[in-house]
Amino acid sequence: MSNAKPAVFLDRDGVINKDNGYVSQRDDFEFIEGTIEACIELQKKGYLLVVITNQSGIARGLFTEEQFNTLTEWMDWSMSDRGVDLDGIYYCPHHSEEGQGEFKVDCECRKPKPGMLMNAIEDLNIDIEASILVGDKVSDLQAGIAAGIKTNYLVRSGKDITEQGETLATAVFDDLAAIAKAI
Ligand SMILES: [Mg+2]
Ligand SMILES: [Zn+2]
Repeated sequence: MSNAKPAVFLDRDGVINKDNGYVSQRDDFEFIEGTIEACIELQKKGYLLVVITNQSGIARGLFTEEQFNTLTEWMDWSMSDRGVDLDGIYYCPHHSEEGQGEFKVDCECRKPKPGMLMNAIEDLNIDIEASILVGDKVSDLQAGIAAGIKTNYLVRSGKDITEQGETLATAVFDDLAAIAKAI
């Protein structure tokens, strides 16, 4: 599509902030060192920045969608205050087995499914071929591959790297800062 822009799709926990497990409050939200600077660098290189995050803690009743939105507004604000303007934030509040009530859905958005990526690609007119996905889990990479993204990077700043992850990843980096330097 004309005027389509490349994006860096960012997983949240383990990529932007430390994965302290179902992070739902400011006190538990710690930016990984170098994340902000890396995002600034990627923006300068012409990439849109789009957060794509599974948040089954909502489905599991560990925190509410409202709490998630409050934390997200704070994250968005703290990043923009430091020069990073996120172009989109997509989240999946569902879980097909552990979900409660309306959130117990076998949805199309929970990674490894590509639903959130497909929505972002359409909403923001993203050039898929030129885009990059950054995740810390196999399911992140699988979502990227299913969406047609050619460059799917795995970072060591989150979960332990598995053999499957290493196989699926285009490359493995220490963290987002290392990726921003390399591209
Ligand atoms: Mg993660
Ligand atoms: Zn979902």
